[in-house]
Amino acid sequence: MILSFIVAALSVAFPREDTKLPSVEKCYLIGSVSPGVTNVIVQGKAATVHPLGGWVAMADVSAGKNAIEVLSVDPSGFVTQRVVRTVNVAAKKKIIKDAVSTVVEKVQPYKKLPYAGEVPKVHPALRAATNLVVVLDPGHGGSVDKGAISPHSLPEKDANLRLAKLLKSELERRGWSVIMTREDDREVPLFSRPKVAHEKNADVFVSIHHNAPPFDRDPRLFRYHCVYAWNDIGKKVAAAINRRMAACLEGKVKSNGVLHANYAVTRNPEIPSCLIEVDFITVPEGELDSWNYERSKKVALAIADGLDDWKITP
Ligand SMILES: [Zn+2]
Repeated sequence: MILSFIVAALSVAFPREDTKLPSVEKCYLIGSVSPGVTNVIVQGKAATVHPLGGWVAMADVSAGKNAIEVLSVDPSGFVTQRVVRTVNVAAKKKIIKDAVSTVVEKVQPYKKLPYAGEVPKVHPALRAATNLVVVLDPGHGGSVDKGAISPHSLPEKDANLRLAKLLKSELERRGWSVIMTREDDREVPLFSRPKVAHEKNADVFVSIHHNAPPFDRDPRLFRYHCVYAWNDIGKKVAAAINRRMAACLEGKVKSNGVLHANYAVTRNPEIPSCLIEVDFITVPEGELDSWNYERSKKVALAIADGLDDWKITP
């Protein structure tokens, strides 16, 4: 048995048991500490602590050997907790980048939503539409689907909902009709989300998320924003939103552009649909900014500006 100690960390807040714990071949992120705690030893080795607090990174752990034992020791020497975690590093996701002028190949087969038709809605600028209806979809929700988890165990579902509410009031102020797929912390089945847009004959559907890297990558290296879409009508609204977000976050969070995604919420033949990844909440800087009210307000304004740009540009 390997003796495992965290020394000098007065309190170590571990991510909840049922959450996705990011891990990579050479870096396990095992928990969070308060800002200022720098001397942390795990399994006999000094671990890297981010200066803002947040993840304690442990290097040189082999992929596949994912059980990490941690004995947390308080300054008086008493063991306060023992945590064993297993992480699946095999889970991988494929993302196809949609550069501005390149053709994108789909890796997943197209599965039509049972309630969707095939005819794209005419762009609002070409049908003199008034009182546009947008469906906002704060990703995840409820006690099972929390989404990504930040270094200090704040769930993505809360960041999504908070931003969606700010965006809702901004869009209503500008004359949009806004429908939310959830207005509180509750579970909403994945396929029910785009269904709301069909039932309400919405003009546009926007899903709001905060990002985490794939399981096999080093989470410390990831921070960008992007907007996913599936077809041309979705990519138009995604591009309009991405332009405004890039201007808003310039210098702090880089833009990864508009990306192709065959997601249940983007795969919509009729209603222009996109999914925004606002930031990575898995790095301490991204966590801090994503929970910053002023930053969230700025992002909400940028998304609203993007939607306003889209509605007048066919
Ligand atoms: Zn998400």
